[in-house]
Formats: sequence, C-alpha cells, structure tokens
Amino acid sequence: MMYDAIVLGAGIAGSSMALSLARQGWNTLLVDRHSFPRHKVCGEFLSPESQSMLKALGLQEALDQIGPVLITRTRLIFNRGKQLEIPLPGTALGISRYRLDSELHRGALRAGVQVQTDTTVTSVYTSGSGYLVEAMQSKRRVAYQARIVIAAWGANPRAGLPGSSQPERSLKDRYMGVKSHFSGIGKEPVVELYFFPGGYLGISPVENGYVNAAALLRQGTFGHTEDKSVLGMIHAAAGRNSRLSGRLADAVPAAGTQAAVAPVNLKRELLAWNVVPQVGDATVMIPPLCGDGMSMALRSAELCAPLAGGYLRGKISLQEWEHLYTQSVLREFQRPLRWGRRLQWMFGVPVLPRLVLGAAQFTPRLAFGMVQATRLSDHS
Ligand SMILES: Cc1cc2nc3c(=O)[nH]c(=O)nc-3n(C[C@H](O)[C@H](O)[C@H](O)COP(=O)(O)OP(=O)(O)OC[C@H]3O[C@@H](n4cnc5c(N)ncnc54)[C@H](O)[C@@H]3O)c2cc1C
Repeated sequence: MMYDAIVLGAGIAGSSMALSLARQGWNTLLVDRHSFPRHKVCGEFLSPESQSMLKALGLQEALDQIGPVLITRTRLIFNRGKQLEIPLPGTALGISRYRLDSELHRGALRAGVQVQTDTTVTSVYTSGSGYLVEAMQSKRRVAYQARIVIAAWGANPRAGLPGSSQPERSLKDRYMGVKSHFSGIGKEPVVELYFFPGGYLGISPVENGYVNAAALLRQGTFGHTEDKSVLGMIHAAAGRNSRLSGRLADAVPAAGTQAAVAPVNLKRELLAWNVVPQVGDATVMIPPLCGDGMSMALRSAELCAPLAGGYLRGKISLQEWEHLYTQSVLREFQRPLRWGRRLQWMFGVPVLPRLVLGAAQFTPRLAFGMVQATRLSDHS
C-alpha cells in the first residue's frame, strides 16, 4: 500500500505532525518502536507557549480532563543551599508524558492516522518518486511505501538512519537522563531545579498528586555510580545537593514510572533536513534546563506540516520545501538554542551559578530576561 505520508516516531513531534497531515486529508501512517502509553524521560513541564499549539490541534479539552497542575514560578536551588525564585513568562502545565503522548495518539487516530507501534524502523530509501521504509515488528520484517517520509524519531536515531551521522562527543559532553514519579512529598505550583556538580534535577508537580523528578547527569561524573538503577542515580544526585536530599527524604517512588535515556548529546548541530525532513529532537535538542523541548517539537511540526501539504498537492517542489522549512527552523530556533546552550554552560561551571545568582538577585529582571530568551515566540 502506498501512503501519502509516513511519520517515523510517535512522540510529541511525530504525533502532532501525523495529526496535522491527516487533518489535511492525507493518508498517514505513524510508526514507533515502543508500545504506548509509556513513561518517558522528561521534566514534564509543558511551557506556556506549547499550550496554544496543543489547543490548535484540538487537544484543549483532553488536556483539561487530565487535570494538569498550573505552574507559575521556577525555583533554582544551588548545591550550597542558596536559591533564586523567578516568575515564569506565562502559566506552564505539569503533565505526564504518559498521558500527554496518549492524548496526542488519540487525536491522531480520530483524525484518521494509522498508528503502528512496536515497529522499529531499520532503513529508509528513496524509491521512484517516493520512499521505502523497512522496519521490524517482533521478528517479522515489514516494508511500507509513501510519497513523503518525516523523521520524528528523537535525538538518537539508530546508526545508518538519516540524522545519525553526527560524530560522538567526548565523555565530558555526554549526559544521561533519568526520571521517576514520586508521591509523599508536598507539591507547590513551582518547577524546582536543583543544581549539583555533574548535572541538575528538576521537580515538577504532575496530575493525580504525583511529582516528577527528572535529572540530566554527566556520564563522566555519574557513570561509576554503584547502583545504576534509575532510583540509584536519583539517590546519587541527591547526595550532591543537601536541599534535594531533604526534599526527597520522604518521597515514595511510583512503581513502573522509572525511565532512562543515554547518551543525551546537547551539542548536536541543528539539522532540519537529512534525506527527509526532521522534526522535534531529530532537528535539534534544546538543553532540557529550558523546559522548551516539547514546545520546539510541536512548533517544528507546525512549521513542517503545511509545507508537506504544499508538496503533496504539487504546489511546491521538494527543493522548495527543504529550503522553506530549513529557513523557518533557523529563524525560530537559533536564538532560543543559543541562549539555552549559554545557560546550560553557565550552570555547568562551578563558580558561575553563584555569580548568576548574585547578579540576578541584584536585578531580578535579568533572571526573568534570561529565562525568556530561551523561549520560542508564542504565535497564538
Ligand atoms: C532529562 C530531560 C528532561 C526534559 N525536560 C523537559 C521539560 O520539562 N519540558 C520540555 O518541554 N522538554 C523537556 N525535555 C525535552 C523533551 O523531552 C523532548 O524535547 C521531546 O520529547 C521531543 O519530542 P520528540 O517527539 O522530538 O522526540 P521523542 O519524544 O523522543 O519521540 C521520538 C519517538 O521516536 C521513536 N523512535 C526512535 N527511533 C525509532 C525507530 N528507529 N523506529 C521507530 N520509532 C523510533 C521513539 O520510541 C520515540 O517515541 C527533557 C529532556 C530530557 C532528556
């Protein structure tokens, strides 16, 4: 069967892309190697600018029903106990990826998307005027054909697939991500970021009374931790920041919510097109510290979908699509990416957080401005 479009990866970027294409009337297949719902490493802090995009996808009511926590402030807590509290430029949501990604899937299915989970893409070829996608389903080899293919497979496509050719970084630049939900600790409408040598951990309240703890840890620093389980890593992180250790002292891990990812490479070059268009983390990963990765995933799909429609209708060529999409991604993402990387670097240098803290306490607008510089523009 020849599809109009195949979207590879059913995270935030892929599901929203497939939903938009199906809404335009295109026969769309969405493929993912995992089964859903699933827990995923993420701070689960949905920035204010994401919400207008989810609303435009028709998901407002579904989100309201999940009962996300409204978050209005961020608190930075350094390993020597000092802290800084900054108002957010808008109201963010604390919502689990378990529920959010499921709602996106439901929306995609309602729009007519065919969803194939437990299907790992192994190769993508150009074939005639379209593409051939090969994949493994259990131990069975399957193949699909489409007029267009969109890569939405996140930051770590398998070797040999488009987007996977960027060189490996040194251990110093390689991170791992871990996350778990907890109960038993108080929650406020605040996203807390705890810093310590070798990384940071964010605590964000999510639906149903849980909090999500997600950490980004330098592999060179935490790679030798004895207990390499997710909870062992979170425990090791807490050992480096006494306020965090106190915060998690009575925390009860929620069974089955633990997840890990490695390596996380924060220095990948921005790449909007590589054989096929790329959306979400496949394009570039903004440092998780900024809490804007989901927003960038949604926005890249929002930018790409109308151009994909233009190409499928014969209104623009493939070259025009590539040019227009690349330009729009550069225009929108370069600034927040540059600032996000600056912040990531600053918080990784031992003495700088204290300088930032001192300066920000002196001029609170500076801290607010820094947070805002990492955000995408809200187009609502
Ligand atoms: C520690 C940490 C904390 C973070 N905190 C936040 C936060 O608080 N707020 C925020 O906005 N962002 C945060 N982010 C970033 C955010 O999680 C990502 O930007 C977002 O998930 C990107 O969505 P995506 O759809 O591009 O990729 P993903 O959500 O990674 O989805 C990619 C999908 O592709 C599938 N896939 C991969 N390879 C294949 C294959 N070969 N075949 C088939 N399927 C495949 C995967 O199974 C996956 O489901 C954080 C990231 C980390 C690491």
